[in-house]
Amino acid sequence: MAGALATTGYFLLPASSLAARVCYNVIGLAAAVAILVGVRLYRPQRPGMWYWFAAGQILSVLGDITYDYYLYGLGRVPYPSTADAFYLAAYPFRIMGLLLLPRLRRRDRAGHLIDAAIAVIGLGMVPWTFILHPSAADPSTAALARVISTVYPVADLLLLGILAWLFTNPRSRTPSNRLLNAAAATLLAADTSYSVLTSYFHADPFVLDGVYVASTLLWAAAALHPSMTADPAVMRDLRPEHSAARLCAPAACSLLGPALLLTPYAGANTVDRTAIACGSIVLILLTIARMALILTSLKSKSRDLERLALHDEMTGLPNRRRFEQALRAALADGPARVAFLGLNGFKNVNDELGRPIGDRVLCSLAQRLARAVPQGALLARIGGDEFAVLLPGESRGHLGTVATHLAAQLREPVHLGGHDVLVGVGIGLAEGDSDQPMELLRRAEAAMYAAKHAGQTYRRWEPAIDEQSAGHAQLGAEMRNGLDAGQFRLVYQPIVAVPEQRVVAVEALVRWDHPQRGMVSPARFVPVAEQNGLIIELGTWILRTACRQMAKWRAELGGRAPDKVSVNVSARQLDRPGFAATVADTLAETGLPPHCLAVEVTETAVFEGGQAVATLHELRGLGVQVALDDFGTGHSSLGLLQTVPVDILKVDKSFVDNITEAGRHSVIAETLIRISAAFGIVAVAEGVETAEQAVALHQLGYRLLQGYHFGRPVTEPDFDRGHTGDAGAGRRAPSASAA
Ligand code: C2E
Ligand code: CA
Ligand code: CA
Repeated sequence: MAGALATTGYFLLPASSLAARVCYNVIGLAAAVAILVGVRLYRPQRPGMWYWFAAGQILSVLGDITYDYYLYGLGRVPYPSTADAFYLAAYPFRIMGLLLLPRLRRRDRAGHLIDAAIAVIGLGMVPWTFILHPSAADPSTAALARVISTVYPVADLLLLGILAWLFTNPRSRTPSNRLLNAAAATLLAADTSYSVLTSYFHADPFVLDGVYVASTLLWAAAALHPSMTADPAVMRDLRPEHSAARLCAPAACSLLGPALLLTPYAGANTVDRTAIACGSIVLILLTIARMALILTSLKSKSRDLERLALHDEMTGLPNRRRFEQALRAALADGPARVAFLGLNGFKNVNDELGRPIGDRVLCSLAQRLARAVPQGALLARIGGDEFAVLLPGESRGHLGTVATHLAAQLREPVHLGGHDVLVGVGIGLAEGDSDQPMELLRRAEAAMYAAKHAGQTYRRWEPAIDEQSAGHAQLGAEMRNGLDAGQFRLVYQPIVAVPEQRVVAVEALVRWDHPQRGMVSPARFVPVAEQNGLIIELGTWILRTACRQMAKWRAELGGRAPDKVSVNVSARQLDRPGFAATVADTLAETGLPPHCLAVEVTETAVFEGGQAVATLHELRGLGVQVALDDFGTGHSSLGLLQTVPVDILKVDKSFVDNITEAGRHSVIAETLIRISAAFGIVAVAEGVETAEQAVALHQLGYRLLQGYHFGRPVTEPDFDRGHTGDAGAGRRAPSASAA
C-alpha cells in the first residue's frame, strides 16, 4: 500500500525534488517488506534466498539514504562514497542468496564461489579496459572510481548469470523466476548506463532513477507471486558437477586477463597494466585453487566408488568381491579358514511378509553376525541370504565353536513390526592354504549345502562332500529317465491298531527299481529330487498312485480295506501355493473321499511357517488329515503343535528303539503320548521291530503302531490279520509273517 502510494508520488513529483527522493526510498523499503511478506504468505520450502534478497534490498536503501544525505545535507556527492559501500554490500547478499540456495556440499559450494570470483574478475577486466577507458578520467585519481564503476555492471551480470544457471530447467521457468530475471536485467541496464554516464558524460544520474525503481518493483513482484515457492535446488542437484561447460567457463574467464594485456588499449598507462597484471595473477591463483578443489572432489568420488564397489548396499557389509580380495591376501600369508552361512527358509520371509520386512530382517541378522564374529575376522554378504566369515587365525577345534556360536545368534527370533521371524542356518567350514581363494570359498559353500541337507548346524568340507554332490548330479539325471521309463513304484506299510491288530491305515513309500543300481532307497534319491525340483513331478505321481490304490482297495475289499492312506509330502511340495489344489484335483479324479487321505510332513518342512503352514490349513479345509512325521527329532516340537494344524503325531523310531531298556529311555515316548493326548492328537509309534517294543508301547498308552514287526512295506499288504480275532498285542504281538 505504502509502496503503491510512494510509486505514484514518485512519478508525479519533480524528478530531483526531496519529496521524490523520499518516495524513492519508501519504494525501496516497501520492496524489502514485500519480500518478507511473500515469504510469510507462501511459506516456500527454502526461504533462505528471499531473506538474503531482503537484506540486500535493505542495504541498497541504506545506500540511497546515504546518497540523499550527501546530496541534500552536504550539497555534494563524492564518488565513490559510503553510499557505494552500501550499494556494493548489497550484491554479495543477493549473490550469496542464490549460491546458497541449492543443496550443495561445502566443497562444491566453495567451488561455486571461486567460479563466481573468477567470473567477476575476468569479466570485470573487459569493461575496465574498453568501456571505462582511462582517457575519460585522470588515471591516477579516478582508479577507485573506475573499479567501482566496473564492479556494478559485472556484479549485475553475475547475478543474471547465476539466475539463468539456477533456473535452466523448463519446470522452473515460473512467473516468479521470470520477474527475478527481469529485475536483474533491469538492474544491469541501469548500472551500466550509470557507469558510462558518470565516467564519460558527467551527466545527471537522476534520469536513471526510473529504471532503478522498475527493477525494485520487479524484485518485490517476484516475491509476491505465488509461484515463488518453486524450489530451484531440486533442478540444480541433477546437473553433473564437472560438466564441460562448468569447467570451461571459468577457464575462459581466467584467460581474459592475459589476452587483454595484448590489446593496444591496455598499454595506455601503467595503472591499467598493473591492474590487469594483478587481476591476471589473482585469476591464475583462483584457477589453481579451483583445480585443487576439483582434484579433491574427484579423489573423494573415487573413494566413494571404491566403497560402493566393495560393499553391500543394503547391509553395509563387505561384499563378495571384497571377501575374495581379503581371502586372497590371507592365503598369501598362510592357511585361512572360511565359514559359509546359508539361511534357511529366508525366501518364505520375503514371500510372506514382503521384501521391505525381509530386507530389515536381513539387516538385523547381519548386525548380529557382525557383533558375534571373533575379532580380526571379516564378515561379508556373499549373496541374497548367504554370508561368509574369513577367520584368519582360528585353530581347527575353535572353528566348530565359532560356527555353533554364529548359528545360535541367528536362531534367536527377530522381532519386527509385530512379527517374530525365525530363520535357521546351515554353515559350511573349509580351511586350507591353497592358492585358489575361489576353491576355498566353493568348498565352504558345498559343505554348507551338505550341512543343510543333513539337517546339521555345520559341516566341515571333506572330499566325500564333492563326490557326494557329483553323485547327486548323476542320480538326478538318471531319475529324470527313470520317471519317464516308469521305474518308480509304491509300497505300503501297515499301521496297526492294538490290541485288536487291525490294519487301520497304510503309509505309502516310494521305491525306485533302477535297471543297473538295483533298488535305490528313497532316503538317497528323495533328497536329490528335493534339490533338483523333480520331487514336484514325482510327488504328484506318488499322490495320484496312492489315492488310486486306496480307492481300489475300498472298492474291492469293502470293510476290510484300511481307513486311510498316508502319503509323505516334502517341504518343496508344501511350499508351492498350488499344492492343495493338486490334492483336491487328485481326490476328485480318483474318487477318494478326503478323510481317507493323510499327508505326512516333517517338522523341518513346517518349522519356518510361511506357505507350508498355509498349505496345511488349506488341506485341512479339504478334509484331508495332517500327520507330523519323525516327531521329536526336529526343531521345536512342542511349539509347532500350537501353530501347525496337526491330526496325527508320528513318534520317531529313535524313541522306540530302546524303549524296553530300563531307565530313562521310555521317558520321552511316555511324555510324547501324554502330550498328544493333551492336544487331542492321535499318536503313531514308528519303527516297532519287536513284540517287546509293541507291548511296552501299548502299556505306555500307544494304540497305533507301525514297523517291521507288523509288516514291511509291500505292494499288497495283508489286511486280514486283525480279523483273525487275535487281540494279543498286549502279551504276545504276532509278527507279520505269523499273521
Ligand atoms: P519315513 O517317512 O519316516 O518312512 C519310514 C521309513 O522307515 C521307511 O523307510 C520305512 O521302510 C522304514 N521303516 C518302517 N518300519 C521300520 C522298522 O521297523 N525298522 C526300520 N529300521 N525301518 C522301518 P523308507 O521307505 O526307506 O523311507 C525312508 C524315508 O524316505 C521316509 O521316511 C521318507 O522320509 C522318505 N520317503 C519314502 N517314501 C516317500 C515318498 O513317497 N515321498 C516322500 N516325499 N518321501 C518319501
Ligand atoms: Ca513317513
Ligand atoms: Ca517317520
